[in-house]
Amino acid sequence: MTLMSHQNVALAENRSAVTNQVFLALGSNLNDPVAQIKQAVQSLSHILRTVKCAHLYQSKPLGPQDQPDFINTVISGYTDLSPNDLLFTIQKIETQQQRVKTRHWGPRTIDIDILFYGDMRMETAELTIPHKELFNRAFVTIPLLDLIPNGITPTGDQIDRNRYDSSTLVRIDT
Ligand code: AMP
Repeated sequence: MTLMSHQNVALAENRSAVTNQVFLALGSNLNDPVAQIKQAVQSLSHILRTVKCAHLYQSKPLGPQDQPDFINTVISGYTDLSPNDLLFTIQKIETQQQRVKTRHWGPRTIDIDILFYGDMRMETAELTIPHKELFNRAFVTIPLLDLIPNGITPTGDQIDRNRYDSSTLVRIDT
């Protein structure tokens, strides 16, 4: 019998040998969005450890306005999955929740984006981390500030609370 070292087991299972804290943004505006968000958080709690969830917020859609408001939140958790495997897993959860993409910036049952993966910065065809639009979206930064109240991101940037108009968001108590 061959014994695998700890690191080899991790590689064989497509895990990185290190655990990283990740932050994910969730959004939904179809088929009971609050339930969609809760279901996604439940699914993600099976793949991430020590999941923390920000408040839920209702926001106006970007782009086409002839669609329902969105419910948004941000979660953090710990994972051994590589960034690409995390993306793959997230996409499986999106598919499970029958996400059907109709049009760019159109309605969706669930959208999950990777905001941060530890303090990593990467840009490939599939993934840009930290997420490209993160600082341009109050519906991402405001829930993110629930989880990092000092506003210092894992990559060491400072989120300026005053830059974001929190009146565009309504906090939902669930
Ligand atoms: P969307 O679902 O419209 O947000 O776009 C999903 C696509 O964006 C995926 O196919 C990813 O390859 C790509 N993408 C690039 N960076 C990220 C990221 N940080 N998190 C999630 N998806 C990303």
